[in-house]
Amino acid sequence: MIFRRQPSEKTILGALKRIPDPIRGSNIVDLGMVSDIQIKDGVVTFAIEVPAAEAKDREPLRAAAAAAAANCAGVSRVNAVLTAAAPPRPSAAPAPVAPQRAHAPQSLEIPGVRAIVAVASGKGGVGKSTTAVNLALALAAGGRKVGLLDADVYGPSIPRMLGLEGQRAESDQKTLRAKEAFGLRAMSMGFLVPGDTPMVWRGPMVTSALQQMLRTVQWGELDVLVIDSPPGTGDAHLTLAQTVPITGAVIVSTPQDVALADARKGIAMFHKVAVPVFGIVENMSYFICTHCGERSEIFGYGGARREAERTGAPFLGEIPLDTRIRETSDAGTPIVAADPASPQAQAYLAIGKKVAAMIDDELAETSGPKIFIE
Ligand code: ADP
Repeated sequence: MIFRRQPSEKTILGALKRIPDPIRGSNIVDLGMVSDIQIKDGVVTFAIEVPAAEAKDREPLRAAAAAAAANCAGVSRVNAVLTAAAPPRPSAAPAPVAPQRAHAPQSLEIPGVRAIVAVASGKGGVGKSTTAVNLALALAAGGRKVGLLDADVYGPSIPRMLGLEGQRAESDQKTLRAKEAFGLRAMSMGFLVPGDTPMVWRGPMVTSALQQMLRTVQWGELDVLVIDSPPGTGDAHLTLAQTVPITGAVIVSTPQDVALADARKGIAMFHKVAVPVFGIVENMSYFICTHCGERSEIFGYGGARREAERTGAPFLGEIPLDTRIRETSDAGTPIVAADPASPQAQAYLAIGKKVAAMIDDELAETSGPKIFIE
Protein backbone atom coordinates (compact mmCIF):
# COMPACT_ATOMS: atom_id res chain seq x y z
CA MET A 1 0.00 0.00 0.00
CA ILE A 2 1.31 3.47 -0.86
CA PHE A 3 0.86 5.80 2.06
CA ARG A 4 1.02 9.47 1.17
CA ARG A 5 1.74 11.92 3.93
CA GLN A 6 -0.91 14.65 4.03
CA PRO A 7 0.81 18.06 3.74
CA SER A 8 0.10 20.46 6.58
CA GLU A 9 -1.11 24.03 6.20
CA LYS A 10 2.21 25.13 7.71
CA THR A 11 4.13 23.35 4.94
CA ILE A 12 2.02 24.97 2.26
CA LEU A 13 2.36 28.41 3.83
CA GLY A 14 6.12 27.84 4.08
CA ALA A 15 6.29 27.16 0.34
CA LEU A 16 4.10 30.16 -0.48
CA LYS A 17 6.36 32.38 1.63
CA ARG A 18 8.98 31.92 -1.05
CA ILE A 19 6.72 33.68 -3.59
CA PRO A 20 7.31 37.43 -3.64
CA ASP A 21 4.78 39.93 -4.88
CA PRO A 22 6.99 42.06 -7.17
CA ILE A 23 4.59 45.00 -6.85
CA ARG A 24 4.66 45.12 -3.05
CA GLY A 25 8.14 43.81 -2.38
CA SER A 26 7.35 41.17 0.25
CA ASN A 27 6.09 37.61 0.08
CA ILE A 28 2.43 36.85 -0.52
CA VAL A 29 1.93 35.18 2.90
CA ASP A 30 3.35 38.05 4.96
CA LEU A 31 1.36 40.48 2.85
CA GLY A 32 -1.82 38.63 3.93
CA MET A 33 -2.76 37.81 0.36
CA VAL A 34 -3.26 34.05 0.91
CA SER A 35 -6.58 32.83 2.34
CA ASP A 36 -9.02 29.92 2.39
CA ILE A 37 -6.39 27.17 2.48
CA GLN A 38 -8.02 23.75 2.32
CA ILE A 39 -6.17 20.44 2.18
CA LYS A 40 -8.03 17.24 1.45
CA ASP A 41 -6.68 13.94 0.13
CA GLY A 42 -3.59 15.64 -1.23
CA VAL A 43 -5.61 18.32 -3.05
CA VAL A 44 -4.62 21.80 -1.93
CA THR A 45 -6.93 24.73 -2.55
CA PHE A 46 -6.24 28.35 -1.67
CA ALA A 47 -7.05 31.89 -2.77
CA ILE A 48 -4.72 34.82 -3.45
CA GLU A 49 -6.38 38.14 -2.93
CA VAL A 50 -5.37 40.99 -5.22
CA PRO A 51 -6.93 44.39 -5.88
CA ALA A 52 -9.61 44.11 -8.57
CA ALA A 53 -7.75 46.49 -10.88
CA GLU A 54 -4.72 44.16 -10.93
CA ALA A 55 -6.62 40.90 -11.30
CA LYS A 56 -6.12 40.41 -15.01
CA ASP A 57 -2.32 40.83 -14.81
CA ARG A 58 -1.69 38.56 -11.85
CA GLU A 59 -1.87 35.16 -13.54
CA PRO A 60 1.95 34.72 -13.32
CA LEU A 61 1.77 35.24 -9.54
CA ARG A 62 -1.03 32.67 -9.26
CA ALA A 63 0.88 30.18 -11.42
CA ALA A 64 4.08 30.62 -9.36
CA ALA A 65 2.17 30.07 -6.11
CA ALA A 66 0.42 27.00 -7.51
CA ALA A 67 3.74 25.53 -8.64
CA ALA A 68 5.32 26.17 -5.21
CA ALA A 69 2.46 24.39 -3.44
CA ALA A 70 2.54 21.53 -5.96
CA ASN A 71 6.19 20.88 -5.06
CA CYS A 72 5.38 20.10 -1.43
CA ALA A 73 5.48 16.43 -0.43
CA GLY A 74 2.12 14.69 -0.50
CA VAL A 75 0.41 17.22 -2.81
CA SER A 76 -1.36 15.58 -5.72
CA ARG A 77 -3.12 18.62 -7.14
CA VAL A 78 -3.43 22.36 -6.54
CA ASN A 79 -6.39 24.65 -7.14
CA ALA A 80 -5.06 28.18 -6.73
CA VAL A 81 -7.51 30.93 -7.51
CA LEU A 82 -7.15 34.69 -7.69
CA THR A 83 -9.66 36.60 -5.62
CA ALA A 84 -10.34 40.16 -6.59
CA ALA A 85 -10.70 42.23 -3.44
CA ALA A 86 -14.22 43.63 -3.45
CA PRO A 87 -14.41 46.88 -5.39
CA PRO A 88 -15.41 49.85 -3.25
CA ARG A 89 -19.18 50.16 -2.90
CA PRO A 90 -20.65 53.04 -4.86
CA SER A 91 -20.83 56.13 -2.64
CA ALA A 92 -24.10 57.60 -1.53
CA ALA A 93 -23.90 60.17 -4.31
CA PRO A 94 -27.14 60.47 -6.28
CA ALA A 95 -27.42 57.81 -8.96
CA PRO A 96 -26.95 59.07 -12.50
CA VAL A 97 -30.29 59.52 -14.21
CA ALA A 98 -31.23 56.50 -16.33
CA PRO A 99 -27.76 55.10 -17.18
CA GLN A 100 -28.90 53.38 -20.33
CA ARG A 101 -25.96 51.09 -20.83
CA ALA A 102 -23.55 51.48 -17.99
CA HIS A 103 -21.10 48.82 -16.87
CA ALA A 104 -18.96 48.82 -13.81
CA PRO A 105 -15.50 50.27 -14.61
CA GLN A 106 -13.84 46.84 -14.35
CA SER A 107 -16.27 45.29 -16.85
CA LEU A 108 -14.17 44.12 -19.80
CA GLU A 109 -15.26 42.58 -23.03
CA ILE A 110 -14.23 38.98 -23.72
CA PRO A 111 -11.98 38.97 -26.79
CA GLY A 112 -13.75 37.57 -29.87
CA VAL A 113 -17.17 37.43 -28.17
CA ARG A 114 -19.73 39.74 -29.74
CA ALA A 115 -22.68 39.30 -27.37
CA ILE A 116 -23.31 37.75 -23.96
CA VAL A 117 -26.69 36.44 -22.83
CA ALA A 118 -27.13 35.50 -19.17
CA VAL A 119 -29.77 32.87 -18.43
CA ALA A 120 -30.85 33.31 -14.83
CA SER A 121 -33.53 32.31 -12.35
CA GLY A 122 -34.40 33.63 -8.94
CA LYS A 123 -34.31 30.11 -7.48
CA GLY A 124 -32.84 26.69 -8.27
CA GLY A 125 -34.64 23.77 -9.87
CA VAL A 126 -36.84 25.73 -12.27
CA GLY A 127 -35.06 24.47 -15.39
CA LYS A 128 -32.53 27.27 -15.89
CA SER A 129 -29.73 24.99 -17.13
CA THR A 130 -32.08 23.01 -19.39
CA THR A 131 -33.25 26.30 -20.89
CA ALA A 132 -29.69 27.65 -21.24
CA VAL A 133 -28.53 24.56 -23.16
CA ASN A 134 -31.54 24.42 -25.47
CA LEU A 135 -31.49 28.18 -26.02
CA ALA A 136 -27.79 28.00 -26.96
CA LEU A 137 -28.60 25.21 -29.43
CA ALA A 138 -31.54 27.20 -30.79
CA LEU A 139 -29.28 30.24 -31.40
CA ALA A 140 -26.75 27.95 -33.11
CA ALA A 141 -29.54 26.49 -35.27
CA GLY A 142 -30.17 30.06 -36.45
CA GLY A 143 -26.66 30.11 -37.91
CA ARG A 144 -24.72 31.75 -35.09
CA LYS A 145 -21.46 30.58 -33.56
CA VAL A 146 -22.42 29.98 -29.94
CA GLY A 147 -20.54 29.30 -26.72
CA LEU A 148 -22.03 28.07 -23.46
CA LEU A 149 -20.43 28.94 -20.13
CA ASP A 150 -21.66 27.01 -17.13
CA ALA A 151 -21.25 29.60 -14.40
CA ASP A 152 -23.35 27.57 -11.99
CA VAL A 153 -20.23 26.90 -9.94
CA TYR A 154 -22.17 25.28 -7.08
CA GLY A 155 -23.79 22.58 -9.19
CA PRO A 156 -22.49 22.44 -12.74
CA SER A 157 -24.89 20.39 -14.88
CA ILE A 158 -23.87 21.41 -18.40
CA PRO A 159 -21.25 18.61 -18.82
CA ARG A 160 -23.98 16.00 -18.25
CA MET A 161 -26.50 17.77 -20.47
CA LEU A 162 -24.02 17.97 -23.35
CA GLY A 163 -22.81 14.38 -22.96
CA LEU A 164 -19.39 15.58 -21.75
CA GLU A 165 -19.57 14.30 -18.19
CA GLY A 166 -16.25 13.23 -16.70
CA GLN A 167 -14.15 15.16 -19.22
CA ARG A 168 -11.35 17.41 -18.02
CA ALA A 169 -10.49 20.82 -19.40
CA GLU A 170 -7.33 20.99 -21.47
CA SER A 171 -5.18 23.93 -20.65
CA ASP A 172 -1.77 25.39 -21.16
CA GLN A 173 -0.27 27.74 -18.60
CA LYS A 174 -2.50 30.67 -19.41
CA THR A 175 -5.63 29.46 -21.16
CA LEU A 176 -8.36 26.86 -20.98
CA ARG A 177 -9.64 25.30 -24.18
CA ALA A 178 -13.43 25.17 -24.59
CA LYS A 179 -14.98 21.77 -25.36
CA GLU A 180 -17.11 21.14 -28.44
CA ALA A 181 -20.53 19.47 -28.46
CA PHE A 182 -23.38 19.72 -30.99
CA GLY A 183 -21.62 22.66 -32.64
CA LEU A 184 -21.42 24.59 -29.34
CA ARG A 185 -18.23 25.53 -27.53
CA ALA A 186 -18.61 24.84 -23.84
CA MET A 187 -16.83 25.43 -20.55
CA SER A 188 -17.88 24.42 -17.07
CA MET A 189 -16.53 24.27 -13.55
CA GLY A 190 -17.36 20.57 -13.93
CA PHE A 191 -14.40 20.24 -16.33
CA LEU A 192 -12.06 21.79 -13.77
CA VAL A 193 -12.87 19.91 -10.57
CA PRO A 194 -13.83 16.24 -10.30
CA GLY A 195 -17.56 15.64 -9.87
CA ASP A 196 -17.10 14.18 -6.40
CA THR A 197 -15.33 17.25 -5.02
CA PRO A 198 -17.65 18.95 -2.57
CA MET A 199 -18.32 22.49 -3.71
CA VAL A 200 -17.43 24.11 -0.45
CA TRP A 201 -16.40 27.30 -2.18
CA ARG A 202 -16.64 30.30 0.00
CA GLY A 203 -17.94 33.56 -1.44
CA PRO A 204 -14.60 35.02 -2.58
CA MET A 205 -13.52 31.74 -4.11
CA VAL A 206 -16.67 31.49 -6.16
CA THR A 207 -16.05 35.02 -7.36
CA SER A 208 -12.51 34.16 -8.29
CA ALA A 209 -13.39 30.88 -10.02
CA LEU A 210 -15.98 32.72 -12.07
CA GLN A 211 -13.59 35.47 -13.05
CA GLN A 212 -10.96 32.95 -14.07
CA MET A 213 -13.43 31.13 -16.28
CA LEU A 214 -14.53 34.39 -17.84
CA ARG A 215 -10.98 35.53 -18.50
CA THR A 216 -8.96 32.42 -19.32
CA VAL A 217 -11.17 30.41 -21.67
CA GLN A 218 -10.15 30.57 -25.32
CA TRP A 219 -13.51 30.89 -27.07
CA GLY A 220 -12.30 31.94 -30.48
CA GLU A 221 -14.80 34.02 -32.46
CA LEU A 222 -18.32 33.77 -31.02
CA ASP A 223 -21.50 35.55 -32.06
CA VAL A 224 -23.06 34.78 -28.70
CA LEU A 225 -21.85 33.44 -25.38
CA VAL A 226 -24.76 32.03 -23.36
CA ILE A 227 -24.03 31.99 -19.64
CA ASP A 228 -25.87 29.56 -17.37
CA SER A 229 -25.79 31.84 -14.33
CA PRO A 230 -25.57 30.74 -10.72
CA PRO A 231 -29.03 30.39 -9.16
CA GLY A 232 -30.39 33.15 -6.98
CA THR A 233 -29.44 36.76 -6.90
CA GLY A 234 -26.34 36.66 -4.72
CA ASP A 235 -22.78 37.90 -5.02
CA ALA A 236 -21.73 35.49 -7.77
CA HIS A 237 -24.43 37.00 -9.92
CA LEU A 238 -23.34 40.49 -9.25
CA THR A 239 -19.74 39.54 -10.03
CA LEU A 240 -20.87 38.24 -13.37
CA ALA A 241 -22.79 41.39 -14.20
CA GLN A 242 -19.87 43.56 -13.15
CA THR A 243 -17.09 41.54 -14.77
CA VAL A 244 -18.34 41.27 -18.34
CA PRO A 245 -20.73 43.40 -20.37
CA ILE A 246 -23.93 41.34 -20.52
CA THR A 247 -25.95 42.16 -23.62
CA GLY A 248 -29.18 40.91 -22.07
CA ALA A 249 -30.65 38.55 -19.48
CA VAL A 250 -33.24 35.82 -19.93
CA ILE A 251 -35.13 34.94 -16.75
CA VAL A 252 -36.50 31.41 -16.36
CA SER A 253 -39.40 30.78 -14.02
CA THR A 254 -42.05 28.17 -13.35
CA PRO A 255 -45.58 29.56 -13.08
CA GLN A 256 -45.96 29.21 -9.30
CA ASP A 257 -46.17 32.36 -7.22
CA VAL A 258 -43.05 31.55 -5.17
CA ALA A 259 -40.93 31.07 -8.27
CA LEU A 260 -42.34 34.23 -9.78
CA ALA A 261 -41.53 36.25 -6.68
CA ASP A 262 -37.91 35.07 -7.03
CA ALA A 263 -37.93 35.83 -10.76
CA ARG A 264 -39.04 39.37 -9.88
CA LYS A 265 -35.97 39.70 -7.62
CA GLY A 266 -33.80 38.53 -10.52
CA ILE A 267 -35.27 41.14 -12.83
CA ALA A 268 -34.75 43.85 -10.22
CA MET A 269 -31.12 42.79 -9.79
CA PHE A 270 -30.38 43.06 -13.51
CA HIS A 271 -32.08 46.45 -13.63
CA LYS A 272 -29.90 47.61 -10.75
CA VAL A 273 -26.73 46.80 -12.68
CA ALA A 274 -28.19 48.28 -15.88
CA VAL A 275 -28.34 44.98 -17.78
CA PRO A 276 -31.33 44.86 -20.17
CA VAL A 277 -33.80 42.07 -19.38
CA PHE A 278 -34.68 40.36 -22.67
CA GLY A 279 -37.65 38.68 -21.02
CA ILE A 280 -39.14 35.79 -19.08
CA VAL A 281 -39.47 32.15 -20.15
CA GLU A 282 -42.21 30.14 -18.45
CA ASN A 283 -40.83 26.63 -17.95
CA MET A 284 -42.91 23.58 -16.97
CA SER A 285 -45.79 25.71 -18.12
CA TYR A 286 -48.31 22.96 -18.90
CA PHE A 287 -48.38 19.18 -19.27
CA ILE A 288 -49.78 17.18 -22.16
CA CYS A 289 -50.76 13.65 -21.18
CA THR A 290 -48.89 11.20 -23.37
CA HIS A 291 -51.85 8.78 -23.26
CA CYS A 292 -54.92 10.94 -23.76
CA GLY A 293 -53.37 14.18 -25.09
CA GLU A 294 -55.20 16.21 -22.46
CA ARG A 295 -53.49 19.42 -21.40
CA SER A 296 -53.16 20.10 -17.65
CA GLU A 297 -51.88 23.27 -16.11
CA ILE A 298 -50.24 21.73 -13.08
CA PHE A 299 -48.56 24.83 -11.69
CA GLY A 300 -51.19 27.35 -12.75
CA TYR A 301 -50.32 28.23 -16.32
CA GLY A 302 -49.75 31.82 -17.42
CA GLY A 303 -48.20 33.24 -14.25
CA ALA A 304 -44.98 34.24 -15.98
CA ARG A 305 -46.87 35.97 -18.78
CA ARG A 306 -48.80 38.01 -16.21
CA GLU A 307 -45.57 38.69 -14.29
CA ALA A 308 -43.92 39.86 -17.50
CA GLU A 309 -46.78 42.27 -18.11
CA ARG A 310 -46.55 43.54 -14.56
CA THR A 311 -42.78 44.15 -14.61
CA GLY A 312 -42.66 45.42 -18.17
CA ALA A 313 -40.24 42.61 -19.21
CA PRO A 314 -41.16 40.91 -22.51
CA PHE A 315 -42.70 37.44 -22.34
CA LEU A 316 -40.49 35.15 -24.43
CA GLY A 317 -42.56 31.97 -24.47
CA GLU A 318 -43.52 28.84 -22.62
CA ILE A 319 -41.98 25.37 -22.43
CA PRO A 320 -44.15 22.38 -21.50
CA LEU A 321 -43.41 20.08 -18.58
CA ASP A 322 -42.38 17.11 -20.64
CA THR A 323 -40.64 13.83 -19.99
CA ARG A 324 -38.68 13.99 -23.25
CA ILE A 325 -37.13 17.31 -22.23
CA ARG A 326 -35.87 15.74 -19.02
CA GLU A 327 -34.83 12.44 -20.57
CA THR A 328 -32.93 14.02 -23.44
CA SER A 329 -30.97 16.37 -21.22
CA ASP A 330 -30.23 13.60 -18.71
CA ALA A 331 -28.96 11.48 -21.61
CA GLY A 332 -26.63 14.24 -22.82
CA THR A 333 -28.54 14.91 -26.05
CA PRO A 334 -30.74 17.97 -25.45
CA ILE A 335 -34.06 18.00 -27.30
CA VAL A 336 -33.14 20.81 -29.74
CA ALA A 337 -30.19 18.69 -30.94
CA ALA A 338 -31.88 15.30 -30.61
CA ASP A 339 -35.16 16.08 -32.34
CA PRO A 340 -35.35 19.63 -33.71
CA ALA A 341 -38.68 18.97 -35.43
CA SER A 342 -40.45 17.96 -32.19
CA PRO A 343 -42.96 20.42 -30.69
CA GLN A 344 -40.76 20.66 -27.56
CA ALA A 345 -37.71 21.72 -29.59
CA GLN A 346 -39.87 24.09 -31.65
CA ALA A 347 -40.82 25.89 -28.42
CA TYR A 348 -37.12 26.55 -27.71
CA LEU A 349 -36.39 27.48 -31.33
CA ALA A 350 -39.15 30.11 -31.26
CA ILE A 351 -37.66 31.61 -28.10
CA GLY A 352 -34.21 31.48 -29.74
CA LYS A 353 -35.48 33.57 -32.67
CA LYS A 354 -36.85 36.24 -30.35
CA VAL A 355 -33.63 36.36 -28.34
CA ALA A 356 -31.51 36.56 -31.52
CA ALA A 357 -33.53 39.59 -32.68
CA MET A 358 -33.13 41.23 -29.27
CA ILE A 359 -29.36 40.67 -29.32
CA ASP A 360 -29.14 42.32 -32.76
CA ASP A 361 -31.25 45.29 -31.61
CA GLU A 362 -29.20 45.72 -28.47
CA LEU A 363 -25.86 45.54 -30.32
CA ALA A 364 -27.07 48.05 -32.91
CA GLU A 365 -28.07 50.40 -30.12
CA THR A 366 -24.80 50.08 -28.22
CA SER A 367 -22.36 50.09 -31.11
CA GLY A 368 -21.54 53.73 -30.35
CA PRO A 369 -19.06 54.72 -27.65
CA LYS A 370 -19.71 52.97 -24.33
CA ILE A 371 -20.61 54.91 -21.22
CA PHE A 372 -18.59 54.10 -18.15
CA ILE A 373 -19.86 55.44 -14.87
CA GLU A 374 -17.47 55.64 -11.95
P1 ADP B 1 -31.94 24.55 -12.65
O1 ADP B 1 -30.80 24.85 -13.58
O2 ADP B 1 -32.94 25.68 -12.57
O3 ADP B 1 -31.54 24.05 -11.30
P2 ADP B 1 -32.36 22.21 -14.34
O4 ADP B 1 -32.33 22.77 -15.71
O5 ADP B 1 -31.16 21.49 -13.83
O6 ADP B 1 -32.78 23.35 -13.31
O7 ADP B 1 -33.65 21.30 -14.24
C1 ADP B 1 -34.01 20.62 -13.04
C2 ADP B 1 -34.65 19.28 -13.44
O8 ADP B 1 -35.88 19.53 -14.11
C3 ADP B 1 -33.80 18.45 -14.39
O9 ADP B 1 -33.94 17.10 -14.07
C4 ADP B 1 -34.40 18.74 -15.76
O10 ADP B 1 -34.23 17.67 -16.66
C5 ADP B 1 -35.86 18.92 -15.40
N1 ADP B 1 -36.56 19.83 -16.34
C6 ADP B 1 -36.22 21.10 -16.65
N2 ADP B 1 -37.11 21.63 -17.52
C7 ADP B 1 -38.03 20.66 -17.77
C8 ADP B 1 -39.21 20.57 -18.58
N3 ADP B 1 -39.63 21.61 -19.29
N4 ADP B 1 -39.88 19.40 -18.58
C9 ADP B 1 -39.47 18.34 -17.82
N5 ADP B 1 -38.39 18.36 -17.04
C10 ADP B 1 -37.67 19.50 -17.00
